[in-house]
Amino acid sequence: MKSNISNVLMLLGAILAFVPIIAVDYLLDAYVLYRERAVAQEQVDLVSAQINASAMDGVAALRQVIADSPSLCTPTFVTNAQTAIEKSVGLKQFLVENMDGVQYCDAYGRIVTYSPLSPTLPVPGLTETMTMVQFAGMAMPALKLAQTFGTTRRISAFLPLMGQSETSLNRGLATAAMLRVTLTNGQPVLTLGDPAGFDNRETNEDYVSAQGYAGQFPIKVEYAVPFAVARARYADLDAAFTVVACLASAVFLLFSLSYVRRSRVPAFDLERAIGRSEIKPYYQPVINLRTGELMGCEVLCRWEKRNGEIIPPGAFIDYAEVTGLAIPMTLSLMQQVRHDLGDLCKAMPSMKVSINLFEGHFRDAGIVEDVQAIFGNSSIDYRQLVFELTERRPLGNSTAATSVISGLHALGARLALDDAGTGHSNLAYLATLGVDVIKIDRIFVDMIKPGLTQVPVLDGLIAMAKDLGCEIVAEGVETEEQALYLRARGVIQAQGYIFAPALRVNAFKELARALQAARGPAPVQLDTALPSAA
Ligand code: MN
Repeated sequence: MKSNISNVLMLLGAILAFVPIIAVDYLLDAYVLYRERAVAQEQVDLVSAQINASAMDGVAALRQVIADSPSLCTPTFVTNAQTAIEKSVGLKQFLVENMDGVQYCDAYGRIVTYSPLSPTLPVPGLTETMTMVQFAGMAMPALKLAQTFGTTRRISAFLPLMGQSETSLNRGLATAAMLRVTLTNGQPVLTLGDPAGFDNRETNEDYVSAQGYAGQFPIKVEYAVPFAVARARYADLDAAFTVVACLASAVFLLFSLSYVRRSRVPAFDLERAIGRSEIKPYYQPVINLRTGELMGCEVLCRWEKRNGEIIPPGAFIDYAEVTGLAIPMTLSLMQQVRHDLGDLCKAMPSMKVSINLFEGHFRDAGIVEDVQAIFGNSSIDYRQLVFELTERRPLGNSTAATSVISGLHALGARLALDDAGTGHSNLAYLATLGVDVIKIDRIFVDMIKPGLTQVPVLDGLIAMAKDLGCEIVAEGVETEEQALYLRARGVIQAQGYIFAPALRVNAFKELARALQAARGPAPVQLDTALPSAA
């Protein structure tokens, strides 16, 4: 259950960890759009303001000339007109004509050449009208701002739409960008760049665009640049963002991994649990298959949390081994065993207590000293102790391992090979280890099915153990067929659910007393009682 949650958490963490990397594109797109929209609006505002300012200059100059000239086409008027042109940046010409366009006079005494590009439009809020015209030889379209004078005459001022030439405007335009000035009736006046892409765009997202108006003049300014082009300018930022996102992902991944690792088995909890003796020994009986006698037990463990939760060893044993907590854990278990089973072992001298050791115990002789310290002056004799080492992981340093084994042997304790048949051991290896007991793993016992007369792998294992002169204990015996088969093959000791699971100390002691009482004068179990080989 717990590890399922951990797996889900880990998966979630891994997915979340890649969010920054995936998000970079989206974030950068949004950022580019935000930045480039602002830039586009700035461009538009600049151009609109420029057009508006020069048009308003024209209007002001026109009004000034009219105000300063009592009548038109007089020398005073011409002087005023010329002065106004000289003072202005953009103003080119003044013209007095009748309502049909017949010219009366201008600022320089010439014919003014111009042709209209648009209808004459009113300017909201002003008395002047506005016409886009082609003026003299000027490439840039010009504004003709006109005011009626009396009922028959009209006075106009001419000025270019913008102060720069088209060429210089083009030069200032970003790659692939488009700038367009139109009248509000839709008539184009000036276009820089190619507007075809923008006009035929499929979605608005393809372009970054902005538009604005030249004050109250009916002139619209548009600017657009393809989004892809704008985005490409941020390639550096894209790379930087991606690197940062990768780092963020890596950091997040590490955090979630370490969180999951901690949540899977809280290290400090296990360490504290050992200190508080929350890791409890449970005792699984080992039964004589011939007599039904109790021959001993294997010490297994459970983590009994203070909240009443009981955690099976599978959830923490590997962790304990990897972290080295297996050593203090075994120490705590042995102390509790001495306390739990002292009386029973004294009362039953043939009782064997089997304790699981870890690979770490075979790296130095500390375990031998610990066994001496704990059991040295106890009612449990060294001869009643069996230490199990698993075959699943081969022992590393054989010199250290050998000295641990001979140290335990020297005390009188015996050594059992746990999970026999599952590892990589061979006869030679077993012989060098000096194993006294072989515990046949449950997977071989499971091979015994109703009706089978032989199980070659199991039979081979039993034969090998006998050849080595080892005692045999069968593990995981669950059915009567299995018990009978094993007994028929000469296996005398067995543990498994058919007899009892691992029991709390009180239940185990009760069972031990019950079996001893039942034994009485005659054995009751299974078959004719033969003396136990153990
Ligand atoms: Mn074991």
